[in-house]
Amino acid sequence: MKKIAVDGPSGAGKSTMVKALAEKYGLLYVDTGAIYRVVGLYALRAGIGREEIDKLIPLLPAIKVSLTHDGEGQHVFLGDEEVTRLIRTPEVSLYASDVSALPEVRAKLLDLQRDFARKYDVIMDGRDIGTVVLPDAELKIFLTASAEERARRRTLELLAKGVDVTYEDTLRQVRERDYNDSHRAVAPLKPACDAVIVDTTGRGIEETIGLLSELVEKRFGI
Ligand code: C5P
Repeated sequence: MKKIAVDGPSGAGKSTMVKALAEKYGLLYVDTGAIYRVVGLYALRAGIGREEIDKLIPLLPAIKVSLTHDGEGQHVFLGDEEVTRLIRTPEVSLYASDVSALPEVRAKLLDLQRDFARKYDVIMDGRDIGTVVLPDAELKIFLTASAEERARRRTLELLAKGVDVTYEDTLRQVRERDYNDSHRAVAPLKPACDAVIVDTTGRGIEETIGLLSELVEKRFGI
């Protein structure tokens, strides 16, 4: 099975790139951030405050997260409820970042992620795919960009979806999530030692897809 790990901070363009590469090379795209978002949504709905996120731990066995894939892409479920769209709000983003710092949450979601890589050729995007989830991936890419550029992209993306946000708020949230994701004790955001680091600041989508395609083709002899 082919395994490609793509990690990096939020807004670096991971999902756009990974979607394009998955399509081009016939790989299953697994967006692992979505499953942390589902757990974040659960915590939010349970009325747990962000400062008391530990209260989620005893509830974890009751949280059923699942993923399916079809021609439209990935669908995520909390129990029987499809929450694919509901998890995309800025509030859920912050909760996702909080719950992802709990080792119990990371342990719970590990097998779900590894199962896909056992069964399919995958390109998986997240924060710790190259370091923890798939340490034996044949290709590891760490995609990054400046915080300002990432906030600009995210603001445009959310505005296009009809979510009411400002650049300043988005930049603040991008920095907060970066800080949380890279300072947590378990599986912090950092490139695997054998990852190829690709900085997308100032690069267009097509240019970046071209760069990444070269890496894929070289690695797999396509
Ligand atoms: O990628 P996305 O922004 O959807 O991820 C939401 C949050 O989930 C991230 O801020 C990060 O805290 C967490 N996450 C993680 N490990 C992953 C994927 C996402 O901790 N593999």
